[in-house]
Amino acid sequence: MGGLNMDNKTEQESYKLVSREYQRQDTQIAIKENIIDSNQFHVIAGPCAVESKEQILETAWAVKEAGATFLRGGAFKPRSSPYSFQGLGEEGLKYLAEAREETGLPVVTEVMDVRDVELVAFYADIIQVGARNMQNFFLLKEISQLGKPVILKRGQCATLKEWLMAAEYLLYGGNPNVILCERGIRTFENYTRNTLDLSAVPALKDLTHLPVFVDPSHGTGKRELVAPMAKAAMAAGADGLIIEVHPNPEKACSDGRQSLNPKDFALLMQDLRRLAQVMAREMVQKE
Ligand code: PEP
Ligand code: MN
Repeated sequence: MGGLNMDNKTEQESYKLVSREYQRQDTQIAIKENIIDSNQFHVIAGPCAVESKEQILETAWAVKEAGATFLRGGAFKPRSSPYSFQGLGEEGLKYLAEAREETGLPVVTEVMDVRDVELVAFYADIIQVGARNMQNFFLLKEISQLGKPVILKRGQCATLKEWLMAAEYLLYGGNPNVILCERGIRTFENYTRNTLDLSAVPALKDLTHLPVFVDPSHGTGKRELVAPMAKAAMAAGADGLIIEVHPNPEKACSDGRQSLNPKDFALLMQDLRRLAQVMAREMVQKE
């Protein structure tokens, strides 16, 4: 009988710590001198994958110049095909750390495997849990033991509730520094790579106190759709964006089709700054 009660209780309390009822105030996450919260709008930008020291340094300077406050770049890549570029591994993490050293931009990078959590946490300022691992509960439990901020991407087929329960694993395990990131879901539509669910943004703002970011790069898969959806995300109330930028998208080892070149990224950032004024949002820029 106890088991049945336990199940009922678990179902009712499927998530609690992440809920708005539990904490009315928006979560604030301090990363070096940056605060991620609902007051300031942050843009994380960089290549899908770290490909070389030169590539990540060039991109880091370009996105910083345009106003990004964090550098992204995958060293461990979750590729759909085993024949695709899998990432540089620890070498890539070292290049990211060098780029941070030179530019001062904190770095965001993905961990895919429980065995790499310590290694990735050593280099990263924000650990990314990718869409394909949103429900990798062992990975979530391992990451929950660290205080390091985490950006938890939405699973390709995850409901908001499933996503919030995944975030709950992190808070329940002791890590309150969680950012949610909408990156598109799988629908019948295949013109775009995924269907970016922007309604998730205001819905999550009601349901949870956690910051909500949007990734219009994976959310659309097409670079010409990135800027419009980035602006729509800000208008919908997102707290920040994660955008793929490559110095030469045509030559990118992964996700070139959805990557912006530095010039187009800078133009988008200008537009976002204008929109931020209308939305009464502050957009932070590093000196
Ligand atoms: C990425 O950010 O490069 C990535 C693989 O994202 P997602 O997990 O959302 O597909
Ligand atoms: Mn990518």
